[in-house]
Order: sequence, then structure tokens, then C-alpha cells
Amino acid sequence: MALPAGSLIQLTPQGLYCPAAGAWIDPWRPVAKALITHAHADHARSGCGSYWAVGSGEAVLRQRLGAGITLTNVDYGAELRIGEAVVSFHSAGHVLGSAQVRITVGGETWLISGDYKRDADPSCAPFEPVSADVFITEATFGLPIYRWRPGREVAADILSWWKGAPERPSLLFAYAFGKAQRLLAELAALGVDEEVLLHGAVQTLMPAYRQQGITMVPTRPVSELPRSESLAGKLVIAPPSAHRSVWMKRFKDPQTAFVSGWMAVRGARRRRGFERGFTLSDHADWDGLLNTVKKTGARQVYVTHGNSDGLARYLRDVESINAAPLGRAFEGERSDDAEIGSP
Ligand SMILES: [Zn+2]
Ligand SMILES: [Zn+2]
Repeated sequence: MALPAGSLIQLTPQGLYCPAAGAWIDPWRPVAKALITHAHADHARSGCGSYWAVGSGEAVLRQRLGAGITLTNVDYGAELRIGEAVVSFHSAGHVLGSAQVRITVGGETWLISGDYKRDADPSCAPFEPVSADVFITEATFGLPIYRWRPGREVAADILSWWKGAPERPSLLFAYAFGKAQRLLAELAALGVDEEVLLHGAVQTLMPAYRQQGITMVPTRPVSELPRSESLAGKLVIAPPSAHRSVWMKRFKDPQTAFVSGWMAVRGARRRRGFERGFTLSDHADWDGLLNTVKKTGARQVYVTHGNSDGLARYLRDVESINAAPLGRAFEGERSDDAEIGSP
């Protein structure tokens, strides 16, 4: 469905739009003013006139959209006036610099979640609960089958998987922006100080994280190692796109694993040809979604991405909250998440 005519946020062909601010939130096409929740490709598109985003994500954003973009850095919680609207960014706990966008016009407040998670993650600021009259939430993992274990526990499982194969290289596939750094930070928190090797796509993002003072294990691009050096017993982190690519020829008899929320789906690991699957997501699980919706105190909720119909129905039928799925428009916009995004 569309948003009601005249409401504070409108759904346009470019994406979610606030007429009072004259700005779009995570627009799908180039627009004059873009408020960006985070730098994943399905949220941050190039070609906009000016951008607003949280400062800790600046390096990643410029890397992805171009060093020369016109960008206003915003602090979490700071209120800015854009046109007739008061806008603030609040941590979404999703990746470095990720935010929910809160917009108030004439006493009414809307909150747009972007992607978010509720679980602890040492590589980014924790999720901040925010209240609003109307909440637009994502529902990437909006089914009761999705319930996450703490990241620290999953990292401990990964550590034993790695250490259990001293004769083989361990190739761990994880999304290059967010998931990889979260794992490196969790391994550091578990006391690991051994060097982890990185695929170039992961390496590119490391300075942005190191600059922000995120504690991670020591890392080195795998390309810096001499060809002759044995990689047995080493942990290597690479993006899913490198799996079964020529890049893998470098490794002799590797063990492989994929880290993703989608690993909770039966058969997903086998279909994609990984030996092991570790379930870890940078999105909220079912309980996280419900808890967040309730905490906003919103009288109206709109649901985007993933199982938007199911979550909206559950909120209506079980929680007696006015909720509706927000259009198929978003479904086509998920494609990038599958590759360089974040599940
Ligand atoms: Zn996304
Ligand atoms: Zn994302």
C-alpha cells in the first residue's frame, strides 16, 4: 500500500520522501537531498545533490559514493532543521555509522528504521530505542523462526571451527561491510591476537573502522603474502562473491563456511555449497522486531522489506497495533543485500 495522502512521509518513485524537509530517506534514484541511514548499497546511492549521514560512517560513505560528494556529518541525537522539519539520527546498531532517522513536523514524529539490530556488536554503536507517532520498520527476518544467538557465542563457534583444522586454510565468507568487521571485533573480544587474512573487498573497509577506534584482531591482505607461503591453519575472511571464484585457487584444500542470518534457513548452506554455516545477522530477529515496534509506542506502523505482510498481520492481530506492509516497491530494492549488503 501507499502512505496516506498528506502524511509527513510520502512514498514516491524515488523512495520515502518528506515534503516538509524536501528530502528523501535512502532514495533509490538521484535526488537533490538525501538522508542516508547507512552505507550499504541498497541504502546509499550515488548521484544525489547533497547527503546527510552520521559522521562515524563518513569514510565508508565517501569510499562508496565518491570522495567529492556533498555531505553533512551529523552526530547521533543532534537535532537539525531541514526546511520545515526537525531531523535527528539515532543509532540503529546495524553497522558502523548506521542510523534510524527521526523527523518531526508540526508536533508529529515519524521514525524510519533503516536496517537495525538489537544484539550486541563491538564494531558499532548500540541500538538506541526511540519513540515516535509513526514507525516505518524493516522486516528482513520477520518470521518467528528467526531468533539469534549472541554474536560472541557464534564467534566462539567460529574460533573452534578454525582451530579444529590446523592443516587446512579456513575460508570464512561474510559480507565485506559490517559482518566481517563484527567478526574481527568479536574474535578480539575472545582474546584472539593472531593475524587474520583478508580478501581485498574486506581490506578496503578496514581503515574506516580502525580510524573510528574499533578494536579488532590484527589483519593483513592475503595478497601481501608471498605465493610460496603456506596458508594451512590460517583464517581468511572473504565476501560471498569470492566463493568458487578463481580467487580460491590460491588455497589448498580449504575448509569453507558462510556467516549469515540466512544460514538459519534449512538447506541454504548446502544449496550454496559451503561446508559449514554460522547463523549471525546484522538485522533484528523476530523478538527484536516486536520489541522495537512496541518500544516506539507508535500508533501506526508501516513495514518494509522481507516478510512485511507477515509482521504487519501479526502486529495487527496479536498485538493490536495498527500496522500495514508498505508496498512492493521495496522488494526490488533488496537485491544488493544479497551480495554486498548485510544479512
Ligand atoms: Zn538493507
Ligand atoms: Zn544494511
